[in-house]
Amino acid sequence: MTGRNDIPGLLRQLFGADAVIDAPDAMARYLCDWRGLYRGSAQAILRPATADAVAAAVRFCGDRSIGIVPQGGNTGLVGGATPAGDGSEIVLSLERLNRIRSVDPADFSLVAEAGCILAEVQSAAARANRLFPLSLGAEGTCQIGGNIATNAGGINVLRYGNTRDLVLGLEIVLADGTVWNDLRRVRKDNTGYAIRQLLIGSEGTLGIITAAALRLFPQPRQRIAALAAVDGIDQATALFSLVMEQIGEFVSSFEYMSGAAVEFAVEIVPGTRLPFDRPHGAYVLAELAAAFEEPPLAAAFERVLGDALEGNVIRDAVIPESEAKRSALWQLREAIVESQRVGGASIKHDVSVPVSAVPDFIRAAGDAIEAALPGTRILPFGHLGDGNIHYNLMRPPRISDDEFRGHGPSLTRIVHDIVASFGGSFSAEHGLGQLRRAEADRLKPPVERELMRRIKSAFDPGGILNRGKLV
Ligand SMILES: Cc1cc2nc3c(=O)[nH]c(=O)nc-3n(C[C@H](O)[C@H](O)[C@H](O)COP(=O)(O)OP(=O)(O)OC[C@H]3O[C@@H](n4cnc5c(N)ncnc54)[C@H](O)[C@@H]3O)c2cc1C
Repeated sequence: MTGRNDIPGLLRQLFGADAVIDAPDAMARYLCDWRGLYRGSAQAILRPATADAVAAAVRFCGDRSIGIVPQGGNTGLVGGATPAGDGSEIVLSLERLNRIRSVDPADFSLVAEAGCILAEVQSAAARANRLFPLSLGAEGTCQIGGNIATNAGGINVLRYGNTRDLVLGLEIVLADGTVWNDLRRVRKDNTGYAIRQLLIGSEGTLGIITAAALRLFPQPRQRIAALAAVDGIDQATALFSLVMEQIGEFVSSFEYMSGAAVEFAVEIVPGTRLPFDRPHGAYVLAELAAAFEEPPLAAAFERVLGDALEGNVIRDAVIPESEAKRSALWQLREAIVESQRVGGASIKHDVSVPVSAVPDFIRAAGDAIEAALPGTRILPFGHLGDGNIHYNLMRPPRISDDEFRGHGPSLTRIVHDIVASFGGSFSAEHGLGQLRRAEADRLKPPVERELMRRIKSAFDPGGILNRGKLV
């Protein structure tokens, strides 16, 4: 017999045994975030396999005032998919809603369920000779629903936009259990408030995304990367202008890696090495792509890099000739992320300022951090073409990880205040979740926070969706 308070038992009756996980060992991976910063507990993990089942789950929780934490691939970096520690909530995993419903090459669109892994969406598009351009380090694990809920950025934003720009329509389960099918694929629709856009980037606080109609693009027939060595951020930014002026329409990625971040990656991640005979102040990894095969882009890229070399903007550059060598360059970029994950306590910032202000931001923040905690290792890298820098700090050798973490709030305040002085954003692509909610209250205009609260209560008057996140 299942008692009224045996929530996992009731969920099993309603949704089937496959849909419910409540054994502590099996639940563990859903209760902790990717960085291990947040740990929560929950009554159960519920894994519905259809939008109607998600709707039934939402009604079940609404009737009992049980909080729901929507969860995709659980790769978010701000604790948005981790439940609270009191064990009162249910984690609603979208992992079983994982079908590609349709691919329409003529329309350059596809419809995917929310639990599809991003890499599978990319592959489904590629099989139809189309490109789904969203690409990020977690693409083998994160889900398209999570990408939409966080309005993910990644390495191709410069050319194709954020996730927001890639969504044509959504299927959403609202907080009262209504399934809103807005899976239309039109590119133009000026019929009032763009409500769908509110859901994109809402981090599970306004509704549960169960499927999406996505924009596709022509599949590139040539893709060419270059790694350029430069003296520092000023030259990296100058190279950006030069490249954009001359071949901007083909540039899909323009990534900055400080010399310090690369040095740390080489030190920490086995097998990481640079293709240059000496270290440099910074590096740029840029990539061009085109749907045509001829003429080759390499010649144009070499010409621009040649101009940059002559003009002392860059010191050296390599253009890999094979696909293996191209992907080795991207592994270097990924090694930076990995080194900062495993290399000890780090304090991370995901900020953006106008591209032209990046050098001044990096200088101002560097001076202020050095004054506040001398010897802190400052390891910035990121999507320079979007003005989005991961301004990450690792502890000075003389202090412990715990002591360094204790400095976190004050160092973060310093960085975010400088970002604000440049008119930037203190969370460019990772969202607010739990980690940045207080900063949003501190740094966003009160009128904007108040509007967010009103929108939240219009969508979710009972307050069951992702409590304590974002607003
Ligand atoms: C190695 C690595 C590299 C990364 N690189 C980038 C990068 O370049 N750019 C970038 O933007 N991010 C990056 N991220 C962060 C992360 O991958 C993205 O935020 C991603 O979009 C999260 O997707 P997810 O499926 O893992 O979502 P989760 O972590 O499961 O959830 C994230 C948020 O979305 C909500 N949510 C999830 N699914 C749904 C749904 N179906 N309906 C409603 N709400 C939902 C959750 O409640 C939570 O608030 C990276 C992370 C890692 C680990």
